[in-house]
Amino acid sequence: MTDLSYSEEEDEFRARLREWLAGVLPGLPPKPSPDDWPGRRAYDAAWQRMLYDAGYAGLHWPVDAGGQGATPTRQLIFLEETEKAGAPYVGANFVGLLHAGPTVAAEGTAEQRARWLPPVLRGEEIWCQGFSEPEAGSDLAALRTRAVRDGSHYVVSGQKIWTSHAEVADWCELLVRTDPRAPKHRGISWLAMPMDAPGVTVRPLRTLAGSTEFAEMFLDEVRVPVANRVGQENDGWRVTMVTLSFERGTAFVGEVVACRRTLAALAGEARATGRWDDAVLRRRLGRLNAEFRALWRLTQWNVSEAERSGGVPGAGGSVFKLRYSQARQELYEAAAEVLGADACDLDREWVLDRLSSLSYTIAAGTSQIQRNIVAERLLGLPKGR
Ligand SMILES: Cc1cc2nc3c(=O)[nH]c(=O)nc-3n(C[C@H](O)[C@H](O)[C@H](O)COP(=O)(O)OP(=O)(O)OC[C@H]3O[C@@H](n4cnc5c(N)ncnc54)[C@H](O)[C@@H]3O)c2cc1C
Repeated sequence: MTDLSYSEEEDEFRARLREWLAGVLPGLPPKPSPDDWPGRRAYDAAWQRMLYDAGYAGLHWPVDAGGQGATPTRQLIFLEETEKAGAPYVGANFVGLLHAGPTVAAEGTAEQRARWLPPVLRGEEIWCQGFSEPEAGSDLAALRTRAVRDGSHYVVSGQKIWTSHAEVADWCELLVRTDPRAPKHRGISWLAMPMDAPGVTVRPLRTLAGSTEFAEMFLDEVRVPVANRVGQENDGWRVTMVTLSFERGTAFVGEVVACRRTLAALAGEARATGRWDDAVLRRRLGRLNAEFRALWRLTQWNVSEAERSGGVPGAGGSVFKLRYSQARQELYEAAAEVLGADACDLDREWVLDRLSSLSYTIAAGTSQIQRNIVAERLLGLPKGR
């Protein structure tokens, strides 16, 4: 039976963190507007630096990767307390802190860890993720961007798409095909590509919510040192599975607490505007409350399982991702009902959140793909195709 209770040390950690947050949050500058990317980068970097200086950066990363070596449970407490206090989220540091960094920590050499991880923890270097291509999304192993060996470099050419934060990134966790003759899963390598290398062109894409948070990326004979490859040549699919397990397993969990905050605010607005009298709406908000509480318990369970089995989250992360992305959409549909006619006012925060919630059942692997993973890896059903 998995133990979901907290130890005395964990409670003390929570109390110290709460006190620290109460001291620093009132002094933070206002958040920049969503499309002010240089401003957002500077804001996110400054917050990350504050966490670093206070000893809260990379809490559950290994000590030899520059982290604090704390248990994932402490990381969970950290997420819960920072969200409850309304602290800034990782923002532009998302890829570096939540999946590229943990991948380098798990799979990189000592030199690679020393080069890439401290600047991520200090908020100095931003990473993006160059996995998807126009013909390779769900079927990621079909990727065609090629890397040809030329002495101590790979020469990389191809196109990536939906690259979040590419506009402000310094590094890209890039998947390339290093052996075009091998079966598709076996000819892939995982590279760290500097975004300022000659031949990298980034073309921002505007989302439904109005933000240019992702971009197309064109790579024209970009020279990437062979020393930037994480894992063996052609063994990139295995490294990718590590990255994806972090992305689906742990990267979204802090947002559950934020959703609970939004839900409480929705209930407040419903009371203030008289919509609370609608029993159907009340029941809907109540059911969502139960849903997000259950998701938080599921997260605790997943984390404690990962703790017992060596740290990399398993397919339980897909159960979380599947249900969380749907619940998030339901939350913002309920918000639209609470807002009534204001649900068309693009200046209201919840309206933009509703638009961006639509992407959650696609980003980090679609719901159909998560269902396939749950069916095959957890339920032991036969492979679809
Ligand atoms: C907000 C956002 C941010 C993103 N950020 C990044 C990023 O930073 N870096 C990056 O590399 N990518 C990123 N992506 C891309 C994302 O990972 C892909 O969009 C996703 O994996 C789906 O791939 P696709 O768009 O090619 O759709 P397709 O794979 O073409 O899928 C189309 C439809 O077919 C279904 N389908 C496909 N195959 C199967 C199957 N085997 N069984 C059942 N159904 C199937 C899918 O579920 C979907 O409904 C981002 C996407 C979004 C929305």
